[in-house]
Amino acid sequence: MYILLMGPPGAGKGTQAEKLIEDYKLLHISTGDMFRAAVKAGTEMGKKAKTYMDAGGLVPDEVTIGVVREGLSKPECADGFMLDGFPRTLEQAVALDKIMADMGKKLDVVLNINVPDSELIDRVVGRRVCKECGATYHIKFNPSKVADKCDKCGGMLYQRNDDKEETAKNRLDAYHNQTEPLFDYYRKVGIYKEVNGLQHIDKVYGDVKKALGKF
Ligand SMILES: [Zn+2]
Repeated sequence: MYILLMGPPGAGKGTQAEKLIEDYKLLHISTGDMFRAAVKAGTEMGKKAKTYMDAGGLVPDEVTIGVVREGLSKPECADGFMLDGFPRTLEQAVALDKIMADMGKKLDVVLNINVPDSELIDRVVGRRVCKECGATYHIKFNPSKVADKCDKCGGMLYQRNDDKEETAKNRLDAYHNQTEPLFDYYRKVGIYKEVNGLQHIDKVYGDVKKALGKF
């Protein structure tokens, strides 16, 4: 089974991914992991990517696509995977189809966890992370027992720059502009499924399983 997991930042993709991995024994591949692996192994694309990352610049599409091609051609990916964080643009989606076609495969399901913007901003902006152990909290949905203090280790909680309101809004804008056109692209080939992410985690997961159907 080849799944693509999509959803705006803050939609709870990570939580759903964990449940899917456990239940379906899926191999989870995120772009971040592929980049780290390629850089560490010093592959051709890994070396290229590192040059851009070290310079603090954006990695161009062709290099990102190259890293994905290298990552997906590994033997452990042959029996299926759940891809996360790629593709983010139409151009990348077309490239992914090509990569998979070259492997003699194609995507089975594109699963989008949908949550309205106003809710997403609330979720992201309320997020707090422990400076010491990395545990995550939410001021409204999952508060620590003592304000600004980690329940597990007593460390100080802080708001990551990525979670500040303006950054969150920018990331959401980028998602709407660049990534949403992919929904139509996958709808046309009949593999697009949408799940309402504005429900309890378990209910969302129930809908995710329903959407996967025969798999
Ligand atoms: Zn902590």
